[in-house]
Formats: sequence, C-alpha cells, structure tokens
Amino acid sequence: MRDSSSGKKVLLTTVYTSGRGYYDYVESNTFGAPLRMTWVRRISYGLRFIKQNVPEVEILEYPTWKEYVRKLEEGWDVVGFSFYLNEVPEILEMVDVARRKGVSEIWGGNYGALTEAVQPYFDRVFVGYAEGEIARFFGRRVKKLVHPPLIGIVGTTFGIRFAPIGVLFTTRGCGVGCKFCQTPSFCSRPSEVPLESVGRVLEFYKEMGLGYVLILDENFGLLRKHAEDVVSLLHEHGFMWFPMVRADLLNERLEEWRRMGLKGALIGIESFDQSNLDEIGKREHVEMIKELIRRIRLSWKDRGTEIGGIGYYIIGYENETEESIKGSLRELKEFNPGFVQLCVLTPLPRTPLWRYLDEEYGIFEKDWHRFDCKHLVWNHPHVEPGRMEGLLRWGMKEINSGHLFRYIFTRFPEYVRGFKFYFRDVCLANLMDASKHYYFPSD
Ligand code: SF4
Repeated sequence: MRDSSSGKKVLLTTVYTSGRGYYDYVESNTFGAPLRMTWVRRISYGLRFIKQNVPEVEILEYPTWKEYVRKLEEGWDVVGFSFYLNEVPEILEMVDVARRKGVSEIWGGNYGALTEAVQPYFDRVFVGYAEGEIARFFGRRVKKLVHPPLIGIVGTTFGIRFAPIGVLFTTRGCGVGCKFCQTPSFCSRPSEVPLESVGRVLEFYKEMGLGYVLILDENFGLLRKHAEDVVSLLHEHGFMWFPMVRADLLNERLEEWRRMGLKGALIGIESFDQSNLDEIGKREHVEMIKELIRRIRLSWKDRGTEIGGIGYYIIGYENETEESIKGSLRELKEFNPGFVQLCVLTPLPRTPLWRYLDEEYGIFEKDWHRFDCKHLVWNHPHVEPGRMEGLLRWGMKEINSGHLFRYIFTRFPEYVRGFKFYFRDVCLANLMDASKHYYFPSD
C-alpha cells in the first residue's frame, strides 16, 4: 500500500531462510543431539515493534528466497533490512536483487548495520531503535511507544511444540559498557517501555491463555523502579517469568522475585576466571556468580525444579589454552547452572574488544557467517581456530546434551505445575499459528 502522506511504499524485511529456523538459545548448543529443544524463529521482534508504532510500513519476516523475490515484484520505493552480522552475505544478495528490480532506496538497521564495512551498501543506515526516525519519514512522530504482542513457541526439532510464551521488552539500551558488547554502540541510553503498554501486552497474553513470560531486555532491572513495577504486574497476572538479567542484580533480588513468580533466568556467567571478567569489563565477581548458581540450584533442590536457567559462557580469552579451557568447562559442568549457551570470544564491530584484538593480534576472518560466536575469527595466541571449535563442540556435548530429555520431559512439565497445565500448553502451542501478526489498534 502506498502511504498517502509520503507517497512512498516501504517494505522492511529480515534475512531470507529455508523456511524453518530457530533462535540461538538451545538448538545450536546441543551438538550431536538429533532431538533438540527449539525456539521457533518466525517473527522479528524489532520489525513488529516498528509495524505497531509505524503502521504505514509493510513487513516481511524470515521469508524464503522465493517469497522475497515475489514480494519485490509488487514494486517498492524503499526496502529496508533488519539483520545481524552473521547474516550479512545473504542480506547483500537481497540488496543486490532489490536494486536490480528498481528499488530506489535501500535501508539497513539492527545490530548488523553497525558494521562499517557494509554500510556503503545502504542508502540509509539506522543506528538504534528506529520507530522515531521511520515515523518522521512519514511526516509524523511516535508520541508514546507501544509494545506489540510477541508470542514465541518452545518446542523441539521434528516439529514437536510444548508451550507458547509471551515475549516482553521492558527497557531498551544499556550503557554499562562491557567491552565485548555492541549494545552501548547501538543504544547507550536505556529507556523505559511505558508501563501502561507493558500492562496492556500482559493482559493480552493472559487473555490468550499464556502462562509464561520471557523478558528479553538486554539487561532487565537496569532501571530499578520500572523493573519493580513490571514485576508487580507479572505477579498480579500470575505469570511465571524468566528475565535476561545480570548475575549481580539477580543475586540481590532472587528470593523476592521468586515469590513474585520468577521461575528461571538467562544470565551471563561469561567466565569462571576473574581476570577474564576483568578483561571484558564485566564488573562482576566470579565468587558472586558461583554463589548465585549455588543458590539457584538449592532452589531447585528444596522446592522442586522451580528455578532453572540458561547461562552464557565464553571460551577463547587471550590467556586461555586448550588445557585451561577444558578445565573451566569441567568446572562449569560440575556447577551445573542449567542449560549453557557456549560461545567463542568474538570481536564485534564498534566494540572496544574489536579494536583491541584487531590491533594486538589481528582479525583474520573475512566470512561474516563465521562471526556467530561459534568460530574463532582472530589470531589467538595459544589455540588454533579448528581446535577452538573442537573445544566448543566438546563443551556443548559435555554440558548440554545430557540435559535434553530431562529438560523436555521432566523439567518443563514441572515448571507448569503438573500435567493438567502441561497438556493445556501443548494444545495451545500446537493450535497456534507461530507467525500470526497481532497488533493493538492505533490510538
Ligand atoms: S553485556 Fe549486558 S550489561 Fe554489559 S553492556 Fe551489554 S547489555 Fe549492558
């Protein structure tokens, strides 16, 4: 549809896919297991936010190549791409075909667009959350940000689905400044998603029959008062909720939040070596993180499997050797923090880590696909790239594969307070269209 005020037709899209794909929480961290837990990747949270707040745009999420080309045939003045760094090669193919089909303006956004080397391919680059700028393109402004409903589905490979989950963003941006993280370059000033909008989306999830909420803020709790207000809303609605949160904050709030419905968390462990945490500027202490994991495990033990987690852990710091990495992964396995997303230390554009590693050792990798945190892309002083990737696979197998059936067939039903709820969630997840669009009417 051509917008009447600007006279322009704008299509925003993501990378093309094979038609099925998953977010990188569990699926890509269980090496060698054919049956794996998954989080279906059908919707783009960023594009849904834009569509909710700037309805003049049209969005196309994770299309197949054919769907994308067919969409281009409709004729567009602007095509914009929301992408991550490891998707750059496919995005450049998409840009190329859009230009050949006569699209006069190409936009780039999301974290991938921070990459200076690819910016020249775009006529306009958006750094940070783009609703305001895009609304201005249509000659208006976003008065108050509205959070759209975002529903994800937990399942397994082979198409088995277990539960629908409401996704929530309560703040955006972070300025803490961890040296490996792109967020401070993307959006350094944290801002609140208005509480009334958070409340409205939670009511929607409740009406849809959802029992769980996953909070995917970069750093939940950064804006303390707002976070406590959100926690109260989650509690009032009786949700079981899981935030992405820093270990130090969770350590402070664990008991109180547990009473308010917290059932698990996604935390950045990053390393069990204090010098590594200092190297990346994490501003946390290893002993505090270990203490938190102990407390979470105690909660599992004493109160049934009530609190579970996903921990993020990085290998390949500059001083590490094969032996020290194996040692730290064994220690991690003993601590058993839950499911672990293992990564290789990867420099990302516009981070202090990128500048440091490039100057000190050199970033040799030219294939952007390999900047997915699963490959070694810089000249490590002690470990070869192939060996590092071998260590990563070994760690995944050691730490995660054994969890698989426990997670799917015991822990998940326990989260949901018994089989009555378990079957209700399974039915709901299987009846639901994972790519359906839900938006609130514009005020
Ligand atoms: S890692 Fe987390 S706390 Fe550190 S800068 Fe990034 S978002 Fe902020």
